[in-house]
Amino acid sequence: MYMHSNISLPGFEDAIILKTEVRGGQYLIHFEMPITTQVCPNCGEDTRRVHDYRWTKVKHLKMAERMTTLFYRKRRYACTCGKRFAEKNQVVSPYQRYSNEWNQMAQIRSVKAKTFTEIAHQYGASVSTIIRRFDRIVPGKIKGETALPKVIAIDEFKGNAGGEKFQLIIADAVTKEPIDILPDRKKETIKAYLREHGANVEMVVMDMSHSFKAAVQEALDNPIIIADRFHFVRYIYWAIDRVRVRIQKEWNDYDRKKVKKKRHVFFKKPKDVTEKDQWYLKRYFSFSAELKLAYQLKEQFREWFELAKENGAEKLKETKEFLLKFYEAVEEADIPEFQRSVKTLQNWQTEILNSFTFNYSNGFVEGLNNLTKVIKRNAFGYRRFDRLRAKILLTHQYKTVGNEIG
Ligand SMILES: [Zn+2]
Repeated sequence: MYMHSNISLPGFEDAIILKTEVRGGQYLIHFEMPITTQVCPNCGEDTRRVHDYRWTKVKHLKMAERMTTLFYRKRRYACTCGKRFAEKNQVVSPYQRYSNEWNQMAQIRSVKAKTFTEIAHQYGASVSTIIRRFDRIVPGKIKGETALPKVIAIDEFKGNAGGEKFQLIIADAVTKEPIDILPDRKKETIKAYLREHGANVEMVVMDMSHSFKAAVQEALDNPIIIADRFHFVRYIYWAIDRVRVRIQKEWNDYDRKKVKKKRHVFFKKPKDVTEKDQWYLKRYFSFSAELKLAYQLKEQFREWFELAKENGAEKLKETKEFLLKFYEAVEEADIPEFQRSVKTLQNWQTEILNSFTFNYSNGFVEGLNNLTKVIKRNAFGYRRFDRLRAKILLTHQYKTVGNEIG
């Protein structure tokens, strides 16, 4: 039975729907294309002469929650020159077993879904078919092959791909978008990449890694390196935590366990310290003058940090003076944990002060890396480095793509 219908289905706008039916729970659509004037690919002449028809079976997107199969009455035309050729149509490309719509949606889904398996189930295909669709998008869509922008942030993350535990993410520090992923965090890898793509790079935000610093300095011409704020502040918090751990060892069972539970109190800003917290601090300081001194040093550093942020680029001289005063206080206090942390700060002083001059940080990269953790947790199949790289970068690039498909 032929249906005379002008119902428009997405992807079938120009097609003639001949028949639809539900069979064995599946939705079947029979269609053909209208007869039109075709241009012969051999001689360029027009022809409308039909040579023959052949039914082809094509897998399509689910419709009304049913697996849907298309039966396409494919027409071949004949030309006076003797050439026979298949008609053009928008539903399915030559030699494909899946419709164009299916391929397009499966691609978008393969990027956005948690796992390839999940999409394979939904789309009625094998996992390897979905992975092949995913692999196909990779070449044209990934940025990072081009020149890097002026300000970049680099950070490592544990991707466990391609036989390397750590990978490196390179992001645009201004737009906060990921640009590329490197297969490892080795100095030579970073250096080679920056030499190839980094001609425009003027500033690099990083945590305090010597190999990152060396790579950037060796690859780029006079780069401005900016130490990440959240990272260098951590050194002082580690210092007080280590002092606490060392000192509590001498205490009785009760106080040792209690102070461990209360360790976060030492990190609090004064305005967040409650009366109860205050009581504990007083108790522990009465046990150890050194712990009290360590706390005061941490406070002095925190106050410096707040001041430095306020000062920004304008009053950098004052910022530097106060930092030197903090070094002196640490020197005088003679607490080894703080002395070690200060040594690191001194090694990175220019880069630390740069962070207040230029006001860039790579805190946002941590957000990107958290997303990567989610990707890793949910999915197998990202052991291969190229696939992990594609997945991370495409996930960001596809944020606004395909939201209409739910
Ligand atoms: Zn011809």
